[in-house]
Amino acid sequence: MSTEKGQSQGQWRLISEVIKKGICVKCGACVGLCPYFSYYDGQVVVTDRCNAETWRCVQICPRIPYDKESLYGLIHGEPQGKDPIGPYLKVIAARSTDPEIRQRAQYGGVVTALLVHALELGLIDSAVLTDKGNGLAPRGVLCGDREAIVRCSGSRYTASGALEQLNVALNQGKGKLAFVGLPCQMEALARMEASEPDGKERAEHVAFRLGLFCTWALDYRSLREYLKAKGISGKPKRFDIPPPPSEVFVLEMEGERKEYPLSELREMVQEGCKLCEDMTAEFADISVGTLEGEEGWNTVVVRTKRGMDLFERVLGNGALEQKQIPKANLEHLKDAANNKRLRAQQANEERDNG
Ligand SMILES: Cc1cc2nc3c(=O)[nH]c(=O)nc-3n(C[C@H](O)[C@H](O)[C@H](O)COP(=O)(O)OP(=O)(O)OC[C@H]3O[C@@H](n4cnc5c(N)ncnc54)[C@H](O)[C@@H]3O)c2cc1C
Repeated sequence: MSTEKGQSQGQWRLISEVIKKGICVKCGACVGLCPYFSYYDGQVVVTDRCNAETWRCVQICPRIPYDKESLYGLIHGEPQGKDPIGPYLKVIAARSTDPEIRQRAQYGGVVTALLVHALELGLIDSAVLTDKGNGLAPRGVLCGDREAIVRCSGSRYTASGALEQLNVALNQGKGKLAFVGLPCQMEALARMEASEPDGKERAEHVAFRLGLFCTWALDYRSLREYLKAKGISGKPKRFDIPPPPSEVFVLEMEGERKEYPLSELREMVQEGCKLCEDMTAEFADISVGTLEGEEGWNTVVVRTKRGMDLFERVLGNGALEQKQIPKANLEHLKDAANNKRLRAQQANEERDNG
């Protein structure tokens, strides 16, 4: 393997196998871990050659192939049989009982409610979330109070590199943290826990991993150009992709609502997302998505014991309400997850075969 002079094989692999191939998903896992990667306006950029031989960036990058079975074992214990949505203890419908959270959240506000109450119960000191981007791409932000957490609610449909902020918080010894992220980010976090030489020690500070369902994320700069071409210049208040069969991308501005064909947006999907097999954030403690057909509710997949403890405590406090998820919804979720996996497996095979 030939590297540029003075460059470690690890960094060289990440650059040649991921960044140069255009399949980086901008999860941010390598940024802040290695000082020679940086995140700027929706892109991971290499600032200098790294000569460390630790290979930490390669160990945690979700676009570098990995033994997933060992990761399942690490996060979920003994394998419990294959399910299209990964291992779980329960799947339930839920929403926040707080009117302010419900009004500002993407759907039922379960993510925001869990974070706010984890903070109030002293289970975490702060949470690493995704901000709304101030003229630039959204990015990670450390939130230490209710107001900051609520300010981050809602979905940005582009990647945010938020694991950078988690790395920074871990480097600074910021205490017990929660992290909210996409399936790629949950995988990177699980891989961090398994990584040498200090991953386990770093991961111990992450008290909760809250994963978001995700079919794909858009390339930030392409989306910005697209919206500019459509004459959108202000800061959108809210984005949404309503469930099928709507096939639209919704943008809410001050006093107006715009809709764009989803087919046009799909052109901007990050290449790396097409290789991702995970729709429901299988390495999270709790994964959250929409509840199709029931506005203002979430589908919640509780996967780990610590996830269950958190969910039950917040439910017990009256900050969440829950109800059974309709059987048809669960079946549809499993089909959608399975389809994403099959599409990605095919895309990965095509790539392997050149
Ligand atoms: C790119 C993307 C694709 C998605 N695709 C699907 C899908 O196909 N099906 C589905 O059911 N749900 C999908 N979701 C999840 C959905 O939009 C909601 O985030 C989820 O249902 C939680 O709802 P909530 O009301 O509890 O969220 P809220 O309480 O509003 O909390 C949302 C949280 O998401 C975080 N967040 C926002 N944008 C990002 C981002 N880009 N990266 C990381 N974290 C972010 C915020 O920090 C906030 O804490 C997607 C989300 C994103 C960001």
